[in-house]
Amino acid sequence: MSTLTPRATLGTAGDTRPAAPASGRRNSIDQVLWTFRGEVLWIVVFSAFANVLMLTPIIYMLQVFDRVMFSGNMLTLVAVTVFMVLFLCIMSFAEWLRSRLLVRAGNRFDEVLNERVFTAGFTAQLNQQRQLPTQPLSDLNALRQFLTGNGVFAVVDTPWTLVFIGALFLLHPWLGWLSVVFAVVQLVMGFGAHRMQMRSIKAGQKLGLEASQYLQAKFRNAETVEAMGMQSNLRTQWMALNERFLEQQAQSQEMAARVQSAMKWMQYTQQGLMLSLGALLVIDGKISAGAMVAANSLMGIALRPVGLIVQSWSQFADAQASYRRLNELLDAQTTQPVDPPLPEVRGQISLKGLTATAPGRKTPILHGIDLEFRAGEVVAIVGPSGAGKSTLARCLLGIWPGATGQVLIDGHDIRAWPRASLGPQIGYLPQDVELFEGSIADNIARFEKIDSGEVILAAQAAGIHDMVLRMPKGYDTPVGEAGDTLSGGQRQRLGLARALLRQPAIVVLDEPSANLDDQGEAALGRAVQALKAKGRTVFMIVHQKNLLSLADRVLVLDAGRVAQFGPVTAAPAPGQQVPAVNAKP
Ligand code: ATP
Repeated sequence: MSTLTPRATLGTAGDTRPAAPASGRRNSIDQVLWTFRGEVLWIVVFSAFANVLMLTPIIYMLQVFDRVMFSGNMLTLVAVTVFMVLFLCIMSFAEWLRSRLLVRAGNRFDEVLNERVFTAGFTAQLNQQRQLPTQPLSDLNALRQFLTGNGVFAVVDTPWTLVFIGALFLLHPWLGWLSVVFAVVQLVMGFGAHRMQMRSIKAGQKLGLEASQYLQAKFRNAETVEAMGMQSNLRTQWMALNERFLEQQAQSQEMAARVQSAMKWMQYTQQGLMLSLGALLVIDGKISAGAMVAANSLMGIALRPVGLIVQSWSQFADAQASYRRLNELLDAQTTQPVDPPLPEVRGQISLKGLTATAPGRKTPILHGIDLEFRAGEVVAIVGPSGAGKSTLARCLLGIWPGATGQVLIDGHDIRAWPRASLGPQIGYLPQDVELFEGSIADNIARFEKIDSGEVILAAQAAGIHDMVLRMPKGYDTPVGEAGDTLSGGQRQRLGLARALLRQPAIVVLDEPSANLDDQGEAALGRAVQALKAKGRTVFMIVHQKNLLSLADRVLVLDAGRVAQFGPVTAAPAPGQQVPAVNAKP
């Protein structure tokens, strides 16, 4: 039996994406990074210029102290000063060029990946993978920020540390060794401090997140909380969470202050000690006074990348975690083939051994269902609460992550239909209607730029045209505003209009009449009849008996199994939900 998971990526039409790598090949992010090798080469070249020219002030100092001061030659002073200014201009220009190149490369990196990351994040959410919905895009952002920040400069400048330390060795070996010791001490102290701080910061972040998530959840249900006077109980719980967060944050801040003071002490002490050693060597006649001053500056620029590495370490650790998560996410995406020209969906559906499971459940929700639905028929799905009706609806749409077996549409596995092509041929009204930020027209049009006539037709089919016209801005009324004034029934009919847009080949309605009044139910009945007349396949999960009369066949589900499936022979008996059906599975 073939499996429906992992499901194909929800891709865009005409989209070709890199295939998931075979083992040994570069992974997704590396493939993209590899395309930036040209930029990296230029950054290395500009960095080389900038680093060599950083020696300018040192050479200038040597010239002034050891040559001009002794000779008193003004012309030499003017000449070396002009060269110094010129070389420093070139150095700044090289640094500006490499920063600009990096920022542009970062933007291109984002552009190349953002669509794929969006799609992959969306699919992961659909597959109910446990992560924050915004995590993939935050990861992409963190990675871009690291790649365009100081961390990269620290990496490309680090080899120059060796060059500068080499120059210190040339001035005098003791100066060279002292700078090596300083570099090691700086690294060890920096990383030690980082490790201590990170533990504390992470604990603080976790507690902060817990406290704010707790608050968000309670604020979302503010009306229920207020109605039943639960406010003070919830506030006490939140205050306990918040207190732990504040304590942890205070600890982190104290530690940060201690680390900062220690690092500052170390830097100043290093400079002082270098100067003392230089002075000792001058007194001994081993180096000149100019070399002593130059050695101090040289050590400053030699240890600069080391300081940058220490500073950017937490950014690097975050970027590394983002890199790992993004790679896992993108590598898990299956390749979406270039959309083949699709025949129109007729709406014939077969279920073969369809089993639906959910994490945390020992038994499946649906147990190996085999069924055939004809194109153009109206199927009512009935059964007690928890029988698996909504789960079956989601399996029919190919959006249930834990489904095994096959859902065939017109004989083709639902996974073979590119979602961007199949989606417009499907209408879905979920049990909990979610409207999206935008206007009423946008929502009915599924955010596609389409002819307003089609939007109006869908609204008329759902019986909401007049209601929308009565709104202050008609079809342009934002649902954010309208959502506050729309009743449950109106929202459901708006969702129905969205499902009915262009009378799609397959329409799945999950309890479409749950919030409807008689007028709404009549509009729903007319809409289903219109779909039937057009030969569309309709599934409706219903509890209302009068809607059953519209169905060609009724599917009775019980505890995830088909109890009955066939035409209705008699209306449900009083007190019963399930009608008499003339066929058993
Ligand atoms: P109702 O008529 O009350 O809407 P239903 O027949 O549509 O019920 P489903 O929503 O399909 O029932 O749920 C069937 C069973 O699957 C229930 O026992 C429910 O608790 C369980 N279930 C549904 N969704 C999940 C999920 N995401 N994770 C775990 N169990 C789930």
